[in-house]
Amino acid sequence: MHCSFCGRSAQEVQLLMPGMNGCICNDCAEQAHLLAREYLGNEKKQAAGDLNLAEIPKPHEIKAYLDEYVIGQDTAKRYLSVAVYNHYKRLGQSDDDVDIEKSNIIMVGPTGTGKTLIAKTIARLLKVPFTIVDATVLTEAGYVGEDIESLLTRLLQVCDYNVAEAERGIVFIDEIDKIARKGDNPSITRDVSGEGVQQGLLKLLEGSVVNVPPQGGRKHPEQKMIPVNTKNILFICGGAFEGIERKIALRLNTHVVGYGNDSAAKRVQREKLLHYVAPQDLKSFGLIPEIIGRLPVLTNLEPLDRDALRRILTEPKNAIVRQYAKLMKMDGVDVEFTYEVLDYIVDKAIEFKLGARGLRSIVETIMIDAMYDIPSSGEKQFVVTKDYAEKQLDKANFSQVRS
Ligand code: ADP
Repeated sequence: MHCSFCGRSAQEVQLLMPGMNGCICNDCAEQAHLLAREYLGNEKKQAAGDLNLAEIPKPHEIKAYLDEYVIGQDTAKRYLSVAVYNHYKRLGQSDDDVDIEKSNIIMVGPTGTGKTLIAKTIARLLKVPFTIVDATVLTEAGYVGEDIESLLTRLLQVCDYNVAEAERGIVFIDEIDKIARKGDNPSITRDVSGEGVQQGLLKLLEGSVVNVPPQGGRKHPEQKMIPVNTKNILFICGGAFEGIERKIALRLNTHVVGYGNDSAAKRVQREKLLHYVAPQDLKSFGLIPEIIGRLPVLTNLEPLDRDALRRILTEPKNAIVRQYAKLMKMDGVDVEFTYEVLDYIVDKAIEFKLGARGLRSIVETIMIDAMYDIPSSGEKQFVVTKDYAEKQLDKANFSQVRS
């Protein structure tokens, strides 16, 4: 018994696998695997090179897809659909007469209103590599935390370290507000997770060749870096920018000084203030002007009102209530939530200021006993009523835990 590729005998190798007309040893098998990956990777690279404009989803189609999963947030969805579509067009551009520049995006909206959800949903539709990264872990080079370049490590990982693919990808940077400058006063003590990080990020946003640590985290001298050109990588940033309403109100107010006492800010409802968010508010919040300049598309997400929460509970394709119904259906049990209980769940989420995230934890708390008992009880139907929900929440001391 010999390996048909390298000729070594069974004694000389760790493993010899027999085939129809010969054998292969573990070393040759590994070698073949690497070759195949490289070959297929090159093929994929070529395929990615020619995105056919007719095949890529139009803004209307992207938005329609988003509508299935994300309730409301029309403005943000439209901006994102257009941005993604233009990103494709830019990649497909073959003549060089007009250089289409990329339009990185920044989304501002309270936490739990769907920023990450929009990004994740769009990712499922995309034909380019996409990743979500968190800005909170970043610090300036040389400090505890991750180097800024590690943002691109994840992108490389999703496309199997195929650099050409990664260079056309999209990166969603969550919690961008967490790297805002901490005070107006630049640096009495070093602001290692704020302004310094923004300076570093700037390099990535404007498009340059950066050295990416293949395993992420912190760069170290022995590690081999992968150079990645960020010129064609689209960056979408999202952040809650808590308290930015105050800056907006302040700006709107100062603008109308001297125009009578019917100030614009008063007429604008407080929660609608975010509609008026402008680049200068981001600057007051602590983003440096260069970064803001590199994020030319600014859009906002609305706080979720009662009506939106109610819809989130039942309407999206993967709505929480539907997920439970499906789980129970697998045990042959039909679950039904009454209208009353759905309203009650929304009321509780509002009462405890939990937002959309809270809907899930409330439903979990209500359903835990049923999920535990019903699979063994032989019941075929289960109706979740308001009384039942109240009892379950009381039992779990929900109000004490949450307040
Ligand atoms: P953030 O804006 O903080 O990134 P997320 O997108 O992570 O918030 O939202 C948290 C969860 O709340 C989502 O996983 C989703 O279940 C729900 N949710 C939030 N906003 C919406 C929305 N507009 N439509 C449907 N579900 C939503």
